[in-house]
Parts: sequence; C-alpha cells; structure tokens
Amino acid sequence: MEQPKKGLLERLAEGVVVGDGSFILTMEKRGYATAGAWTPEACVLHPEAVSQLHREFIRNGSDVLQTFTFYSSDEQLQHVASAVYDNVPAEQNNNINMKTLTAAEVNAAAIDIAQGVAQEGGALVAGSVSPLSEISFHKGKEHSQNEFRKQMSMFKEKGVDFLLGEFFKKVEEAEWAIETMVEMGIPVACTMRLPPSGDHTGVSVQDCAVRMAKAGASLVGVNCLYDPSICLKSMALMKEGLEKAGLQTYLMVQPFGYHSQDPGTEAHPMGYEALPQFPYAMEPRALTRIDVHRFAREAYELGVRYIGGCCGFEPHHIKAIAEELAEERGRHPPSAGALGSWKSLALCEVKTYAEKANWEYWDNLTPTAGRSIEAFSDLAPASLID
Ligand code: ZN
Repeated sequence: MEQPKKGLLERLAEGVVVGDGSFILTMEKRGYATAGAWTPEACVLHPEAVSQLHREFIRNGSDVLQTFTFYSSDEQLQHVASAVYDNVPAEQNNNINMKTLTAAEVNAAAIDIAQGVAQEGGALVAGSVSPLSEISFHKGKEHSQNEFRKQMSMFKEKGVDFLLGEFFKKVEEAEWAIETMVEMGIPVACTMRLPPSGDHTGVSVQDCAVRMAKAGASLVGVNCLYDPSICLKSMALMKEGLEKAGLQTYLMVQPFGYHSQDPGTEAHPMGYEALPQFPYAMEPRALTRIDVHRFAREAYELGVRYIGGCCGFEPHHIKAIAEELAEERGRHPPSAGALGSWKSLALCEVKTYAEKANWEYWDNLTPTAGRSIEAFSDLAPASLID
C-alpha cells in the first residue's frame, strides 16, 4: 500500500523543505499573462501551461507547489477582461468568455492543476492567500477577515496541505490573515515583503516575526521585492526577534530572482518594482545558479528551513537550491540524476568541460554582468549617440 505523504511540519522537523519559484513573472515571459495586470486567468485559459511550470519545479527539486491564485479577485479579473481581452478572438483563449470568468473558477482550476501535478512527485500543495486592496484593509478587521475567508473558501472545499499567506506589507494585515487561516485547522505559513528597515507602518522586522508567530503561524519569513542578499538581512533580524521572545517558530525565505542591491532599493518600500528596468529589461540582472547556491547555503546556515524563490526564480534556480542542499536532503533533484550538476560535466570528453566538473571552479568564477553603457556607446553608430 502507498504510504501517505508526510505533512509540512513533519518534513520541517526532519530537515529542509525546498519551495517552488516564480509564477506570474514567468508566465508573462512565456506568453500566458499580462504585465501590469498580473492575474492568473491562465489556470482556465491555458491549464497545460500552468501544469508544465509546476512540473518543472518538481523535476528541479520543489517539495511544495503553490496554487497559482495570486491577485485572483472578481474585481481584478473584470478589470483585465475589458482592458486586455476585449476583441481578442475567443479561440486564442480556450473559447472562454473572460467577461463572465470568476475568481472562484480560476481558484478551483488552480487547485485542481496543482494537486494533479503534485501527485506526480509527492509534493505538498500550498493554498496561496494574498493581501487585500487598500480599500478593503481600511474597512477594518472584520471586513478584511471576511474577504480572506472568501479567498480561502475554495481551499476549504477542495482541500490543500497547508496555507501560505504572502506578500503582506503591514504586519497588522498579516495577523488578520493568519488568524483567519488558522480557522481551517491545517498548518499556516506567512511571509511579508519586508526590507530590513521594517514594515510599511514602521514595525521592526523582529516584531513582525514575533507578531506573526503569536497570531498562529508555524512558519514565518519574507518573500519577494528584494534579492537574496537583502532578504537574508531581514531573515537574520526575524531570527533575532523570535529568539529573544523565546519562540521556536520555523523560518522561511523566498526572495526575488534578480539582483537589486542598487543604492536606495534596500530601503525602498516598493523594492524591485521601483527599478527603472522593471519589468521589461531585467534579464541582465538575473541571478546565476551560483548566486543561488550561495544563497541556499547562507539561508540554511542561518537556520532557515523552508527555502524557495519568488518572482524571477526559474526552475533552474530551484535546482540550484536542491543541489546545494543535496547532502542534507539525501538526494539530488530528479533533473540532476545520480551524479549531480558538477560531476555530470565530466561526462563530456572535452577538457574544458572536465575542468569545470567541481564546485571550486564555479566558486572562484566572477560572473559577467550585462553590457555597460560605455560598451553600448562603442558599438552604436555615431548617429545614434548624438
Ligand atoms: Zn514575488
């Protein structure tokens, strides 16, 4: 008989859990979502594209699949229907009438897709809960918690392994979400988009961690908006806060997948969204796998036990996390085979490959950046520069 799969808390107690990566930014690059709108209607319009990305995360080592439900509200979907899909031939979109598509239908499809693919690799499914609009938040706690219940109703109906609230900018809203998520009686994780300077209302990172833990989250941390180096600074502060308060809550980190260490970004409440290159010219800033190996090691040594990525973390980045922690986990990700990423390079008889078949080579490598403005000026015809 097949063994029942282990739950989130059991897996955390045994070792480290590898999360999944980017969804909405990656789906946009692949042609299944719209920049600016950032809504997940592809769950209904192009379910095969959503399944494929989930599958790539599993092949590269993810233990968890998050439902693709970010920004899924009736209000947002209707806005997109008229702004983006008007006059688009129906056959381009699975013959779905976007004007009548509801968030409940999108969320139901998102859960079905994630559960179907999760079965292929024994992964857990996390029901993803998003922050509310400013208008909803300002209507107060009772109204907001009812809105969170609406977001969660499909998770309740179809069942998920745990709930993950993410991307909160105010700890008060995160607390309201956690209190509501706890009602379902399954493990609750919560992460905020939190720079080291604290949340949008001036609450310190240490206090945010303690308040989320006391509200009932078994796992707290940060996600998105800042690159790994900045997110790890916030994680160190979270750890400090929890230790001082005598709390044993697990730590979780899922950073942005592009470098954003520019002066000012770390303190900017919008993080990478304030970068002039976002969203159409970010490629030269992408993390290399080597950056992600270093990030995964640092996060693990800090004591973080749920390590994944947010926007910009592609499947190969998740492979880098799973490969870096292969020894701790006792296995390589399915895509790496039995040899693992470094040793497999020696399979090629070309000498330059064999020389790279070890971590030392990559650890001593200086990665190139995108082309500089000076280099561009040299290449461009003089008439374009004047
Ligand atoms: Zn993100």
